[in-house]
Amino acid sequence: MENKNIPYKIYLSEDEMPKTWYNVRADMSHKPAPLVNPGTGAPMGFEDLRPVFCDELIRQELDNDTREIPIPQEIRNFYKMYRPSPLVRAYCLEEKLQTPAKIYYKFEGNNTSGSHKLNSAIAQAYYAKAQGLKGVTTETGAGQWGTALSMACAYLNLDCQVYMVKVSYEQKPFRREVMRTYGASVTPSPSELTSVGRAILKEHPGTTGSLGCAISEAVEAAASQDGYRYVLGSVLNQVLLHQSVIGLEAKVALDKYGVVPDIIIGCAGGGSNLGGLISPFMGQQLRGERNYRFIAVEPASCPSFTRGKFAYDFCDTGKVCPLAKMYTLGSGFIPSANHAGGLRYHGMSPVLSQLYHDGYLEARAVEQTKVFEAAEQFARVEGILPAPESSHAIRVAIDEALKCKETGEEKTILFGLTGTGYFDMVAYEKFHNGEMTDYIPSDEELAASFAQLPQL
Ligand SMILES: *Cc1c(COP(=O)(O)O)cnc(C)c1O
Repeated sequence: MENKNIPYKIYLSEDEMPKTWYNVRADMSHKPAPLVNPGTGAPMGFEDLRPVFCDELIRQELDNDTREIPIPQEIRNFYKMYRPSPLVRAYCLEEKLQTPAKIYYKFEGNNTSGSHKLNSAIAQAYYAKAQGLKGVTTETGAGQWGTALSMACAYLNLDCQVYMVKVSYEQKPFRREVMRTYGASVTPSPSELTSVGRAILKEHPGTTGSLGCAISEAVEAAASQDGYRYVLGSVLNQVLLHQSVIGLEAKVALDKYGVVPDIIIGCAGGGSNLGGLISPFMGQQLRGERNYRFIAVEPASCPSFTRGKFAYDFCDTGKVCPLAKMYTLGSGFIPSANHAGGLRYHGMSPVLSQLYHDGYLEARAVEQTKVFEAAEQFARVEGILPAPESSHAIRVAIDEALKCKETGEEKTILFGLTGTGYFDMVAYEKFHNGEMTDYIPSDEELAASFAQLPQL
């Protein structure tokens, strides 16, 4: 069946780009659990979420039934600045590995922000603008989300306030300046600007911050300023919806050549790229049309799926956000300081959590030295310098391809290459100097963190 000559890169034309996002929740028989109010345990409805989120985004967040949601023309115009993104057949990697497997990757690093996050940033900024807001607040860890949002806000002439985890703010000054170039204001978190920031600083003086803590600050900043709302770059249902553009494009490109993947692999931090990549394929599986293997890859130092609990938990450290039911390590969990590989969020998308719980998705935890080995191997043959986050997926794609080498099976593997690693050279440097170590949290550490989970 697969006898056509498959090019190294499959590019779609602009008019082949999706005109609707695909909402995988519509095909799930067990829907993801609703966000709940931490005080009362009651599900959060439209009115409850309005002080924090934009109206249209709340509708998307709560919509478990509409299968196709139109992508507004202005967002599609913006997408055309950097999409469709290429689907690459990794011929050089296959050759290097001497594997009979056929490896494809969808490359989302083809824009200045360097990751897939722009796909949701422009959507969220668009709906904020459409609602007549002045600006948005957000957190950023490594900086990719903040950069993406800054770009989207600059395009739409919207104010953008970014709370950046302090350690990244100090270690990644260039990321910070990219955001400022796009007009964002960037504050190291925890900061003195918010009451939650002041409280965290008082309790943990000298802390270098965490994503959960920056989220708390950004939420407070949105709620306390007129005409501002908070936006989040991952985890939420709406973000997975926007990221479905990745999987939809990949599917159109593969269908053109009659290629059907056996295994689909993505790295998982909060779950947005993986959710987006697998969505249309998962939809087929949920409707009973086809079977695929889906693999989520996470760091062994922050193993939400493989060692977390499926429970209601706070999305943030400061405990100001609603509770989400997800695989979590506890909102107080902070990965060890030697962890350089990204994907350090304590929780996981409720959609992916439900799918994992129901057995539709596998998960694998990998150690960062193994991840950087794969990253380097990939860079040397495929040319692209991958982000450490993306390299988790590369690791498992290579592992699966090597299994095929042993068994002689010609499996087709698709993985998400979410971004480039130019701002992660300190981590690469550690790896090259042999200074990178692996840290795996002990069961006792995790148990202590689970003990803090909210009791509903
Ligand atoms: C943010 C990011 C991720 C992880 O986020 P998800 O929401 O899990 O997709 C992965 N890769 C890159 C390059 C990122 O910037």
